[in-house]
Amino acid sequence: MNIIGDYHTHTIYSHGKGTIRDNVEEAFKKGLKEIAICDHGPGHFTYGIKREDIKKMRKEIDELNKEFQPKGLKILLGVEANIIRYDGTIDVDDEIIEFLDILLLGYHFGALPGTFKDGYKLYILNFLSKVIPKVRKNVMEMNTLALIKAMDRYPIDIITHPGSKVYVDIRRLARKAKEKDIALEINSSHSHLTVEEIELALEEDVYFYINSDAHSPENVGNLENGIERALKGKVPVDRIKNIVE
Ligand SMILES: [Zn+2]
Ligand SMILES: [Zn+2]
Repeated sequence: MNIIGDYHTHTIYSHGKGTIRDNVEEAFKKGLKEIAICDHGPGHFTYGIKREDIKKMRKEIDELNKEFQPKGLKILLGVEANIIRYDGTIDVDDEIIEFLDILLLGYHFGALPGTFKDGYKLYILNFLSKVIPKVRKNVMEMNTLALIKAMDRYPIDIITHPGSKVYVDIRRLARKAKEKDIALEINSSHSHLTVEEIELALEEDVYFYINSDAHSPENVGNLENGIERALKGKVPVDRIKNIVE
């Protein structure tokens, strides 16, 4: 198995430990053909990127591409956006999207909710869903619907670590992702997608990415955990967008 690229890595622009250059040099060292820098969206309370940094990041990446593309490594700018409203609103708007090459979306606690009601749903109801099994189904439905609405509204490429942080209906999510040509992530730093979730998603014919979600440069391209789960879930290699035989 050959890894083409790692499409989910963080830098000091959110809460990663390395600079963009640090991640890029590691990707080059590991022989990747592509790396995406996808820091947390600006709606994250503690470690979201600053809106005004997007232009700076774009410039930095354009410069690095001049240096690394001739050597066979392409660098993409992305954001790992947050759901901030249950109508599917995310914390990345058109003004930011126009600077991006790739858009990731996932649930994160610490995302500043758009309204009080959204905050109640994201924090209180999701908390209750973990401790009171009876409410789990409704909360799962609510979380899944918000992602589905977001997939209809934004040019999303990858849903990150589905099933981490909050409950989602993997089968419904995968069905929608397939329809919109969006991939689900097998995240090497989080335990989701789990093997069981991978098996469910596979039945819906969806595509996957296996990403590192590296928060320090040395972890860029470290996909072992994700690859192990993909193998256990018997994912055909041609369904994984960033791996070739
Ligand atoms: Zn994440
Ligand atoms: Zn991440």
